Amino acid sequence: MTATRILVLNSGSSSVKYQLLDMRDNSRLAMGLVERIGEETSRLKHTPLTGEDAESREQNRPIADHDEALKAVAAELSHDGLGLDSPELAAIGHRVVHGGQTFTQPTVIDAAVLAEVERLIPVAPLHNPANLTGIRTAMALRPDLPQVAVFDTAFHTTMPESAARYAIDVQTADEHRIRRYGFHGTSHAYVSRKAAELLGKQPEDINVIVLHLGNGASASAVRGGVCVDTSMGLTPLEGLVMGTRSGDVDPAVIFHLMRVGKMSADEIDVLLNKKSGLIGLCGDNDMREIRRRIDEGDQEARLAFDIYIHRLKKYIGSYYAVLGRVDAIAFTAGVGENAAPVREAAVAGLEELGLAVDSELNAVRSDEPRVISPEYARVAVAVVPTDEELEIARQTYALVANQAAERND
Ligand code: AMP
Repeated sequence: MTATRILVLNSGSSSVKYQLLDMRDNSRLAMGLVERIGEETSRLKHTPLTGEDAESREQNRPIADHDEALKAVAAELSHDGLGLDSPELAAIGHRVVHGGQTFTQPTVIDAAVLAEVERLIPVAPLHNPANLTGIRTAMALRPDLPQVAVFDTAFHTTMPESAARYAIDVQTADEHRIRRYGFHGTSHAYVSRKAAELLGKQPEDINVIVLHLGNGASASAVRGGVCVDTSMGLTPLEGLVMGTRSGDVDPAVIFHLMRVGKMSADEIDVLLNKKSGLIGLCGDNDMREIRRRIDEGDQEARLAFDIYIHRLKKYIGSYYAVLGRVDAIAFTAGVGENAAPVREAAVAGLEELGLAVDSELNAVRSDEPRVISPEYARVAVAVVPTDEELEIARQTYALVANQAAERND
């Protein structure tokens, strides 16, 4: 196959993030973001990453819908000689949040796939409609080009039923497709593989706990390259304490808020997803700001940090037990890659489990994957910067290259 470029699209309800990559060397040719689509104050920021003219360009003008947004992106790419009509473009890879139990692999999009992603809207009401709009728009723009869906849930479809099922009435659960799906799967897949690479091992040969700590946060237990448990569930609300989400709470908190607090389901949804977690505990969801406040002696920020770490530690411990043997713990995403105090506190006191960080190695700032545990430690603690766009591009390219090879056989 001669075409080697992949356009990665991540379509939100009012935004589109994109990157154009060349899979010969995994290099990035351009990237950008359209935000506030449908508002008066829309903005497109495009950054070409090749050639002399590598300065970002911005458009600040109303962009009515995803169709207009994608056409504006296509025009910016054309300006750089990277247009969507180029024969070098092999496919478009779309991030799709929820693939339910159906999609275990990246999938070439056709009418049946679109219908199934649409059928999953009830379990992903915020994300799947926006992802679908992005896909439909891109398909209208390049109907002849393979378009591939890469699902956030796919990596977790290998979880055994014992981890994926909630202990609730089976009929009710099945009727409403209630089970633990997990999210951030593209990141967990990429980071667990990279962690193996970092240790000079094959993914099949190691067990890894991946801690994806961004504004959203999730942990996963990966045995020999296969996910066996993850902390997010039916929705991304379950699990760790996050920037604005509560993570685990007793479900009875919700009935209590309904009966005693007289709150509606929608109000509680907003409370737990948008006004809880770090922001609910101390008014800030940025770990940098929380650390700054702690350094000034702020007790509210201290408690928020301690709650965050306590939950993280519980997940490390439980995934240690799930895996039996752990070879590596990999920290990733905004907090995991940058916040040395979080990494240090998360494994503090776990020497008996073979876990420790070397303070000097932990303090190093770098964009490269690196081990931060001392040599004597039995478990490698690592920082592995995630790259979801590269992983989407890689999976998309592998699929279309494979299909092209099969056609030529
Ligand atoms: P993400 O969702 O992966 O983009 O992560 C965003 C979060 O990463 C922010 O809300 C911050 O809490 C955190 N973050 C980013 N940079 C830093 C940093 N230098 N130190 C600590 N936390 C950071």
